[in-house]
Amino acid sequence: MTVTPLSGSRLRRMARRSAAAPAAAGERCDLCGTPIEARHRHLLDVGERELRCTCRACALLFDRAAAAQGTLRLVGDRRLAIADLALDDAAWEELRVPVDIVFFVDDSREGRVRAYYPSPMGATESLLGLGAWSDLVAANPVLGSLDPDVEALLVNRVRGARGHWIVPIDECHALVGLIRMHWRGFTGGREVWEELGRFFAELDRRARPAGRTTEGR
Ligand SMILES: [Zn+2]
Ligand SMILES: [Zn+2]
Repeated sequence: MTVTPLSGSRLRRMARRSAAAPAAAGERCDLCGTPIEARHRHLLDVGERELRCTCRACALLFDRAAAAQGTLRLVGDRRLAIADLALDDAAWEELRVPVDIVFFVDDSREGRVRAYYPSPMGATESLLGLGAWSDLVAANPVLGSLDPDVEALLVNRVRGARGHWIVPIDECHALVGLIRMHWRGFTGGREVWEELGRFFAELDRRARPAGRTTEGR
């Protein structure tokens, strides 16, 4: 298991945003320094695995150009709720994820899919069972449309829930930040579970329903 180097201050900023809290005053585009709104796009620095907050003009620039030879990639805003995802308990066991919330990202540098779960320490990697991911994609063709590095399959099986979404990677960072910020003690405490409930309800509200055999975008 490894903890990814997501910086603490950035996670706190992301968490504040995800909690639909008022925007922190004075947020600026990480590229050009222009003041930006609370809800803004991000660029992923593929090498550093870091998100950069971006204004509309900079986002447009990167969207059009696939700029910077792919080292900075614009994070999209596709959110799909896949209610019928084929992931039964047996398939879930195969994935060997130790907790009930996990996100899967296709890492283009490594040429493989990596699984992470949010923990009070940040995003922690869970080593995937061999072949388990390809079995999952075979059963759910929609997963073949995941954009490497910038999109994730997010799964929530907390307390009997069965939620599956394709989300932009910044949504996962926000979730990690939220858990880091609100987790107390060994079990997390009531506050973190309330925040999680809000997070997933908001995600459902924004997501477009899709099926597991949906082709691409
Ligand atoms: Zn900018
Ligand atoms: Zn941002």
